[in-house]
Order: sequence, then C-alpha cells, then structure tokens
Amino acid sequence: MKRILLAALAALATVPLCLSADASVMLDSNIVREGGIIKIKIFSDKPLKACDIEFNKGKYTAFFKQFDLKQNQYLFTAIIPVALGTGGNKKLVIKYMLSDGGEHRQEQKIYVKALKEKDVMINTGQMNDELDSELAREGKMMYSLQDAVTPVKYSFPFMKPVDAPVTGGFGDSRVYDGGRAAWRHKGLDMGAKKGTPVRADSDGVIVSASVTKAYGNIVIIDHGAGIYSMYFHMQKLYVKKNDSVSKGDIIGNVGNEGLSTGPHLHWQINVCKIPVNPAEFLKDF
Ligand SMILES: [Zn+2]
Repeated sequence: MKRILLAALAALATVPLCLSADASVMLDSNIVREGGIIKIKIFSDKPLKACDIEFNKGKYTAFFKQFDLKQNQYLFTAIIPVALGTGGNKKLVIKYMLSDGGEHRQEQKIYVKALKEKDVMINTGQMNDELDSELAREGKMMYSLQDAVTPVKYSFPFMKPVDAPVTGGFGDSRVYDGGRAAWRHKGLDMGAKKGTPVRADSDGVIVSASVTKAYGNIVIIDHGAGIYSMYFHMQKLYVKKNDSVSKGDIIGNVGNEGLSTGPHLHWQINVCKIPVNPAEFLKDF
C-alpha cells in the first residue's frame, strides 16, 4: 500500500501553524477512483480537540480509534467518500487542533480517476408513475435516517452480507423499461437464492427495518462516523429498529421484493449520505 507521510510534505507545501512535530497524517493513497474512499490516519502524542477535513465541498471529521501503548500515541481515523461524477484533480484539506492548543493545517492533492460506466438495460415491466414517486419518497425517507454522525461502531474489514456473485456493479448506468427511468447504480447487487441469509457487514445499530414498496423489505445499519449500510429487496427481516448487531449477525434473507427482476440483495454503503462502492470496505484499514 502506498503511504504518504503528509507531515513531511506539509513542511514544504504548507506552513504548519504549530512548529512542534507532535502529529502526523497518513493517507492510503492520493489516487482514488470515483465511488472510492480516502482512508486517513492521524497519529498524535496528544488527543485531538478538533478536526475538520474538507474534500470536494464536503466537510468531515476524524474519530478516535485507539491508544497505541507501544508507540505512546493516539490514533484517529477518517473515511472520506468520493462521489460518483467526481473526476480529476481535487484538494484535501485537513485542519486539526491538539489538546494543548497546537493548530495544524495540511493540504494534499488527490487525483480522482473516472469509473468506467457500464450501460445496462433493465426490463422490469414495473415502472409507472406510482412506483416513480414511491422510489423518490422512500429514497428520501431512507436518507433522512442518516443525518446522525454517531461514535464509531464499525471495524475493518467489513464482510459481504451474502456469499454470492455480484450480478450488478457499482456505478453502472441503468436504463429501466426502455427509457422510462435512468440512474447510476448506487450499490452492489448480489444474486442468490430466495431465503439465503443476509448478514450485517460490520458492527452497528439498526436504524430501520421496514417494509417499503419500491425497495422491498429493507434494513439500514448505522456503523458510526456517518457510515450507513443498506440492504434491499429482502424476503424476511430478523431485526428491528434500535437492535445492536455484530458483524455476521443474520438480519434478514434474500428476496425479490420491490423493483427487482429476480432474487438478489442490493447492498449499499453511504458515507455522509454519499454512496460509495461497498467493495472498498472489504479491504483492511
Ligand atoms: Zn441494486
């Protein structure tokens, strides 16, 4: 994994507000694909009092991860989403203040590679005005449940919720029912037999286990730090709102409910309401 020690670069590129080198910032890479995530680690001798991260007009923060007894250092982490449609050169700005008042500001250029779109025609025979408005209404409802940025509950790597092949890729350009509707696919579809158990991809708290018209039976898990995983088209739900779940717990099973052309699970992960490729979470951090 390519690592960039920003603290060293910062001395050249920007003027640190505090001259004491008691913190360092590391990115997993400065080249990322649309729909990817930027993983940031901040190592510090002192706790962070505040942290603001700016990327592509979004504002994010870092969360305490652990205290390393060997290194005698605090570790803070942040996950920054790279939205579909974000291409080219971008700037990442990290501002943080240590508990002793020392302020730091660091900048890093990020290059966002375009995601090659796959055009997919899908015939459901289901699209009509009523379903259109349900898709919009229920979609809005699901996003409204993702306002809270709660303490970190997840741990990396996440796991696939079903052990099944991907039958619909992230970011595909989909045209439904001969042009009746079109959008880019915001998650991964995994084709599996009806009734196949669906498992929580990581630890978290259920914020919704509901029956919807357009998305079928759905579950949304809050993993903390603005990260939410979503599971659509299920046949049965085995959890309810406010349940705590651990990675691997069965939350429901595969179905064909809602706008769907065959039994499959739609697995989606949003970071601060921006859909990113769930496969990014299967790697370690
Ligand atoms: Zn899908």
